[in-house]
Amino acid sequence: MVKRRKARTIGELKSSGYRPVSVKEEMRRNLIDMIKKKKEIFPGIIGYDDTVTPQLENAIISGQDVIFLGERGQAKSRIMRALVCLLDEEIPVIKGCEINDNPFAPICKRCRDTLAEEGDATEINWLPREERYGEKLATPDIAIADLVGDVDPIKVAEGKYLSDELAIHYGLIPRTNRGIFCINELPDLAERLQVGLFNLMEERDIQIRGYRIRLPLDIFIVASANPEDYTNRGRIITPLKDRFGAQVRTHYPATIKDEVAIMEMEKRQFSGDDIESYTPEYMKEIVAEITHLGRRSPDINQRSGVSVRISIGNYETIVSNSIRRAVTLGEKLAVPRISDLPYVYASTGSKIELEGFEETRESKIIDDLTKKAVQNVFNRHYKLADLEILVDQFTEGFSVEVSDMMKAKSYIRNVKEVLGLAEAISMITDSERPEAIASATEFVLEGLHVNKRLNKTKSEGKIIYRR
Ligand SMILES: [Zn+2]
Repeated sequence: MVKRRKARTIGELKSSGYRPVSVKEEMRRNLIDMIKKKKEIFPGIIGYDDTVTPQLENAIISGQDVIFLGERGQAKSRIMRALVCLLDEEIPVIKGCEINDNPFAPICKRCRDTLAEEGDATEINWLPREERYGEKLATPDIAIADLVGDVDPIKVAEGKYLSDELAIHYGLIPRTNRGIFCINELPDLAERLQVGLFNLMEERDIQIRGYRIRLPLDIFIVASANPEDYTNRGRIITPLKDRFGAQVRTHYPATIKDEVAIMEMEKRQFSGDDIESYTPEYMKEIVAEITHLGRRSPDINQRSGVSVRISIGNYETIVSNSIRRAVTLGEKLAVPRISDLPYVYASTGSKIELEGFEETRESKIIDDLTKKAVQNVFNRHYKLADLEILVDQFTEGFSVEVSDMMKAKSYIRNVKEVLGLAEAISMITDSERPEAIASATEFVLEGLHVNKRLNKTKSEGKIIYRR
């Protein structure tokens, strides 16, 4: 295609053959085109390929507004923002319009007046798709003025009448005209605002200070809600509920593999460290497993959920503790290990709500989840029967000491002395670097402990494994 100079007036736009379409038609057309070309439609959305994504695509092909139902930390915001990729790269709007008027069919009075006066010479702007997305978290203190609009006292002072459309200061939704508007936690929106939203979506008019103004906005509305709030009687007005053509239920990652993939993608990255960092798969799996167990724990409030953000935060925490160790001990490689796990209290406790009120139970609950997680992951990698030789070494008072601040080299002696340990380690790592061996050693010993084959005692910051 020959790249022509972009039209700058309505006249030029007309002769370019441009034909405006509604936002829903535009998204539908682009989606179908992407499916046809086998393009990845929502990059970075993991684990939704067979569940959320096809439902969302159907809604877009149907031209339905969408509400996502799900607990916190289920990528609802991410997927809503990803919808922007279904918009054209840019669209023409009448220059200076507050509500992105379509050059061929303006709805605001200012633009209708301009068009009547200037005709084909009316100037246009090209609006990039990133600027066609608006979002708002529903909170009880949002006013109709924020979402829909209000009379602008300055414009009134300039001589506009209250009943005059020109006296309006438009709110967020009209300003997202010809784009995507997203409301997070819709049931928290006050009822009169829900009515206002419904009028806008269905009757295509807005009411400001008793004046009813016709405003046929062109918007794709997407909302999110916690499923319990949504089904709760009275939290959301029925006509608005009916207005959403598609309800899509989101969910937490179904597998440990998906959870780990999200952790990898979302973990904060820093550049410029001169310390190499490496996290063994079993450590990532343990972090993901803690979260998965948390989602089934009766001690944790499941209504507020156990977010993927806990996995991400815990992953960052154990990596950071391994970096802190490497820096402190002057080691070159940072490898998280079991003795780093107690530090996840800091990144877990703040993100879960317990059933009941006993704060003191929190550390016990997290401790139990961690132990169980280690056991589950360990038992996926090892058969206890294969480790009997190793366990047999721990007779006659033999013990092994570890700690999160012990040098990796100190672990190497054990590997040489303890029959069967080197073999067990080789099943989970190819690396011969001391830091990786230290981590694997702790995993094997802790795995035997949680399976009741070794005892574990703590003394002066050290952990001692013995029989
Ligand atoms: Zn306008």
